[in-house]
Formats: sequence, structure tokens, C-alpha cells
Amino acid sequence: MATGWAGDGAVQDQIDATVSDAVQRARRQLKKGPGLTHCEACDAPIPAARRKAVPGVRLCVACQETQDAERSAAIYNRRGSKDSQLR
Ligand SMILES: [Zn+2]
Repeated sequence: MATGWAGDGAVQDQIDATVSDAVQRARRQLKKGPGLTHCEACDAPIPAARRKAVPGVRLCVACQETQDAERSAAIYNRRGSKDSQLR
């Protein structure tokens, strides 16, 4: 494959830039305050390692996963409304 690699690289660079941009934006939002020692939703203790890994953490892993799932489900349903009508 002598052709195409440069194009692929350019696309990957763009993807990398977009992803790191989003990560930086997310991190900035997370750093608004100190992390909680106990989950905001269920009051379970949040491990110190998680608080270190996620600055400004407010939810335990279980609640975070639930919230993420609900959020992506909401986005998916909005985008996929045409598809679901076809089913
Ligand atoms: Zn929780």
C-alpha cells in the first residue's frame, strides 16, 4: 500500500485532536471542585484511587455507569428516532 497512508494519517490526526479536545473540556468541567468521599447518589464510599483518577468525582463507579448509560441512551434515542420508527 504505497498510496493512502498519508490520507489515513491525516484523518487519524484529526480524530486524535477532536478526542483530546473533548477530554480536555471534560477534565476542565470535572475540576470544578474537590472530589467527594461518598457518592452523591447512593452514599457509597468512593475509593481514594478513583478520586485521584477522576478529579472532582461525585459518583461511585456504579452510579457513574448508570448515569453514563442513561445519557448515551438519551443521545442514541434522539439520533435513532427514525430507525426505531422503521422497526
Ligand atoms: Zn453511587
